[in-house]
This record gives sequence, structure tokens and C-alpha cells, in this order.
Amino acid sequence: MYNIVLFGPPGAGKGTQSEKLIEKYSLTHLSTGDLFRKHLGEGTELGKLAKKYMNEGRLVPDEVVIGMVEDKINESTNTNGFIFDGFPRTTAQAEALDKMLSKHNLQISGMIALDVPEEVLRLRIKERGKTSNRADDQDDEKINTRIKVYLDETLPVADYYDAQGKLQKINGVGEIDKIFSDITAVIDSY
Ligand code: ADP
Repeated sequence: MYNIVLFGPPGAGKGTQSEKLIEKYSLTHLSTGDLFRKHLGEGTELGKLAKKYMNEGRLVPDEVVIGMVEDKINESTNTNGFIFDGFPRTTAQAEALDKMLSKHNLQISGMIALDVPEEVLRLRIKERGKTSNRADDQDDEKINTRIKVYLDETLPVADYYDAQGKLQKINGVGEIDKIFSDITAVIDSY
């Protein structure tokens, strides 16, 4: 069983690579961004709560995110493993994830971090904003907030896994298929 944290700043290509990985390894995709967008679209209480944070590019509070992830893990017992995409985004979330997994006798196999320079991220997010309908993709101020939140609150999560010897960095610029094969080489080494 593979339980992989796919890590990287907004616009790094986590969604694109996740799609390919779940197909190749028959994994369950757990994207907190996608789950929140689904709640938002359906107008649930959780969606209403998350909306104000998401639209400003800020993080949804840890306890809300952690509860949502725990529900998803508990309902996905019959799986080859998980790709965590956009989660954990804080050290508190990473600690909570370890606890949740250990209840099921599971653990994280490794974190794969996509490395992409900031100027490339900005270009990609603006480009995606033309078609994504995402309020947080559309203007510079929100994009700036997301990148700042990533640097301040999310980057320490890489240190958390590095300290456990579980961090592998991959160049996230170039052909999608080349990046994918670099990622699969890491997974096949687990
Ligand atoms: P991005 O494409 O910027 O990486 P996502 O699609 O993963 O963004 O998430 C969009 C928004 O959803 C985030 O800016 C944040 O408001 C909220 N969100 C998603 N995952 C988390 C999380 N793990 N913790 C807190 N907030 C989250």
C-alpha cells in the first residue's frame, strides 16, 4: 500500500500528476481543495464555512480540514492507498494525519515535493484562472496571499517529513510525462 503526500506550492501541478498517479497505481485521490470546492458547489454548511477562507487564498482552519480528511479516510477502507494532494498544509495537519493513519495501522510512504520557481507558478495560476472559475486564481492579490501562506505555513511540512527521512524533491518544470516518470521512479523505490 502506498500513502503518498504530493507536495508543492499552488500551481505546482499536483492535480495534474495526481490524476495520472491514481490511474497507474489505483490509488484514492484525497484533494482537500477539490473536496472543499465540491462542498462549495453543493452549498453545504462546510462549503459555506470554507468559502470565505478559500476565496481570499487563506487556509481553512485545521480542525475543519482534519475532520473532513478523517471522514474520507474512514469511508475509503477498500483501497490500495492514498494520494494526499493539498494536505497536510500545516505541521498540525501532518501530525493529525500520522495519528489518523496509525489508527488503521497505516503510515505515510513518502512525500514527493514538486519544485517550481515562483515566477512560473504565477504564470500558470493566471493561465488556469482564465478557465478554472476559481475566485482565488483570478487576481494578483489572492495569488500573492496563497504564495505567502505557502511559504509561511506550508513549507515547514516538508521539514516534518524530511526529519523522518521521507522527503524526495522532483523538478516540477518541463514535460508533464517526464515529471510523471520522475515521480513514479520514486514511488517504485518505496
Ligand atoms: P492550490 O491550487 O492553490 O494548491 P487547492 O485547490 O489545494 O489550492 O486549495 C484551494 C483552497 O482551499 C486553499 O487556498 C485553502 O483556502 C483551501 N484548502 C485546501 N486544502 C487545505 C488545507 N489542507 N488546509 C487549509 N485550507 C485548505
